[in-house]
Amino acid sequence: MAYRPLPDEAVEYIMIHTSASPQEYTWEWLRYYFLKILKWTVEGYHIIVEDTGLVKRLAPHGSQSNGVKAFRAKDIYIHNGNTIHLCWEGGMNGEDNRTEMQEKELIRTLEWYLWKYPNAKILGHNQVAVKLCPCFNVIEWARKIEYTDLHTNKRRVGIPEERIYKGDNFKVLSYHFGYDIKKQKVA
Ligand SMILES: [Zn+2]
Repeated sequence: MAYRPLPDEAVEYIMIHTSASPQEYTWEWLRYYFLKILKWTVEGYHIIVEDTGLVKRLAPHGSQSNGVKAFRAKDIYIHNGNTIHLCWEGGMNGEDNRTEMQEKELIRTLEWYLWKYPNAKILGHNQVAVKLCPCFNVIEWARKIEYTDLHTNKRRVGIPEERIYKGDNFKVLSYHFGYDIKKQKVA
């Protein structure tokens, strides 16, 4: 397998994805799909969170995974060389069927990445691609989740505004989730 380095200082974004697969599929299926069927030379994501809550690392820490097609807009240049990709398994046909365990473990995994990369911003794939992925509005989600800030070890509600990327470059959020970009809170 190819190894493309992703040094800590290069990480600017943490992107949330769905596998868009049946929920009973597992990380082995995903790995098989990306590496054997699509014949990619690197993993599809860094982390996969199964419906049972099992968290599995696919791409080694410090290396790039696939996940996003390079995209540039006035406030963002995002590509696999500056992004961590976290994926929940499910989301077939755009359905947000995250389980409780999955949601819990997705947040727990995110906590660690927010700590590890203190300047990285979180976003959903659908903010920089015409896709439903990850089947929910990450901006709204990030503002209301309860998580532990590992820098202070305190529980808090809502990821700080400056750590949420607000662009909806293809208006997927506004179209599918009624997200009103004019009403967004500014950091
Ligand atoms: Zn995606």
